[in-house]
Amino acid sequence: MKSIRSVYKIGHGPSSSHTVGPFRAACEFGRRYPAADCFRVTLYGSLAFTGEGHGTGKSIRQGLPGAEIRFDRETPEAELPHPNTMRFEALRAGKIIGQSRVFSIGGGSIRFEGEESDEEKEVYPQKGFTEILRQCRERDISLVQFIREREAPSLREDLAEVWRAMQDAVQRGLRTDGILPGGLGVARKARILYEKRCYNESADVTMNRLIAAYAYAVSEENASEGLVVTAPTCGSCGVLPSVMYYMQHDRGFPEEEILDALAVAALIGNIIRTNASISGAECGCQAEIGSACAMTAGALAALHGLNIDQIEYAAEIAMEHNLGLTCDPVGGLVQIPCIERNAVAAMRAISSVNLSRFLYSTRKISFDDVVETMYRTGKDMNEKYRETSHGGLAQIYAGRPEA
Ligand code: SF4
Repeated sequence: MKSIRSVYKIGHGPSSSHTVGPFRAACEFGRRYPAADCFRVTLYGSLAFTGEGHGTGKSIRQGLPGAEIRFDRETPEAELPHPNTMRFEALRAGKIIGQSRVFSIGGGSIRFEGEESDEEKEVYPQKGFTEILRQCRERDISLVQFIREREAPSLREDLAEVWRAMQDAVQRGLRTDGILPGGLGVARKARILYEKRCYNESADVTMNRLIAAYAYAVSEENASEGLVVTAPTCGSCGVLPSVMYYMQHDRGFPEEEILDALAVAALIGNIIRTNASISGAECGCQAEIGSACAMTAGALAALHGLNIDQIEYAAEIAMEHNLGLTCDPVGGLVQIPCIERNAVAAMRAISSVNLSRFLYSTRKISFDDVVETMYRTGKDMNEKYRETSHGGLAQIYAGRPEA
């Protein structure tokens, strides 16, 4: 497995596969052809179907100003090497001087056809949680110690930068009112949730309300093309920060412990992207929100000092009960169901930790089992439910007279 550091990428929303990845691909392609006088980019698959709502063209033009963008909605997915495929062409005096197919493989990562992905070198010989668990047990070390031994010494500073960006997104989102861009007329709700305390509100209700407010805040920033951190994607970027923000700012956990929890979350995300996928276009929302929920559950369990079996079980429960979750964004925008889904997944992560705390010794399913199941389920999933906006809520909404 590669370093955990690239699980977290700081970039502009609303979709890591549709904005962060294409922007990075555009920058890299432009760097390879400095003699070109114009660029042409064709988007296929999910990028063609939801790229307009997700702002893919704008992101590409930020990397390649003036690029001509085409949306090819005719080529069937079966003929594409990846559901998020782009063809870049560099032209000079009307002639093509270079071209590449590039795949946006999830979480803002890209791969040029015939080349390795743009991520760093392999740093973990282990591929799954079971092997890591065995290592930790044999050497009597914690997951955080295991991660520190493998990663570069700058991991701490990198995570601190990530955590600052996550907190900034929460705080900006809580300060901002108004209607989200895109034409659906969706109002921002983070501030309402944050300020609207019920009369006689119990401690549990306060916790859920605040965590939901933080998740909405980050997800609304994402929907407004604000600066967020992939965790593991932009569409699911509100889940992990919301719970960690609550734990530090409302429960008083020190920042050092939050950074350790972020390392555990990244390891879980890393296992998922190595052995399955974190791309909604490849495996549906279970790969995005399900992964974010598992990362958050694992992080929270680690933050509370639970043992490695409890951490694994918390992540497993969180993923298991997101299996089959489809991606059907209304209008191709990352708003409905995405924003609310981030808040619900944050609460589900907390429930997963509560169960794992007591029941870890009775479990039958490992985290690696559920990751493999998620991948197989995603591969079986009809294309309509993998970020094309052709099924589910997106289709129901599009059929309404007022849509
Ligand atoms: S439904 Fe899920 S996977 Fe699809 S765009 Fe929204 S958050 Fe991403």
